[in-house]
Amino acid sequence: MSNQTHCEIHGESDETFVCSHLTGGTAGLGFNRNETSADDPFPDAWCDDCELIREAHGGWNEQSEKLASIRLLCSGCYERARVRNTRTLETLDDLADLRWKCSSCEEWHKGPCLDFGFSSPLYWSAEDESAFENTPPADDAEFPSTFLDEDYCAINNEYFFVRGNIELPIIGTAKTFNWGVWGSLSRDNFAICLRTNDDPKRVELEPMFSWLSSQIDQYPDTRSLKMYAHMQEPGFRPKFELEPTDHPLAQEYYNGISPARVKEIMKAELPDVRVKENS
Ligand SMILES: [Zn+2]
Ligand SMILES: [Zn+2]
Ligand SMILES: [Zn+2]
Repeated sequence: MSNQTHCEIHGESDETFVCSHLTGGTAGLGFNRNETSADDPFPDAWCDDCELIREAHGGWNEQSEKLASIRLLCSGCYERARVRNTRTLETLDDLADLRWKCSSCEEWHKGPCLDFGFSSPLYWSAEDESAFENTPPADDAEFPSTFLDEDYCAINNEYFFVRGNIELPIIGTAKTFNWGVWGSLSRDNFAICLRTNDDPKRVELEPMFSWLSSQIDQYPDTRSLKMYAHMQEPGFRPKFELEPTDHPLAQEYYNGISPARVKEIMKAELPDVRVKENS
């Protein structure tokens, strides 16, 4: 058993040790460590500069350790530092020359596209659209039985959804890739969301249980993955926290996605993607 430490963000977590350069919000510095094992899931880690020092001194010893200045980190912060600093063959900068045709405005844009979204939950249908015209609110509700806007959706006063974000950290960077998806809510939580839509205090709401209600075609079945919706300040959509499972989307949520994978998703999701100059 490793020792425990308390972190403001991650609570009680395993103690880990990294070079001082990997603490804070740094990105793209390299992440070197010995192989992980069941006994040691978070081996000591150091940046590429410290790797040069280690090599020059023939390994870790009193001298090289002094130069690297080792710091304590919680295992949650360690994982974040790993994703941000791990080097990838293709970097996000390499995607700067991509040109792509936008599905919303039909214009050509440049650089990586880091945001894809769904305008309605999977369960919304064209019939709901026409039903919306003449559905009065149910007796006890302050919202129509069936409606869809940019953030909220109700169907037959029975199913309720909120639009939010699943943010995937991009490996080797401090940036995230965003899936704008829909998640179900209980009737009570849905009502709370609507009621507190403009209330700055909504950030203090408990995370709300939600089933993912969008099928993202870049993964096997994403319907009904378990999530929690974390409410954000007014004007910002909730962030969805995925249950940690083996599902590829959950894996990317916790371990990040490579810039090469971002490019792959762009090619699959956008009508046209080209490298600059060649057409
Ligand atoms: Zn370092
Ligand atoms: Zn932490
Ligand atoms: Zn556009």
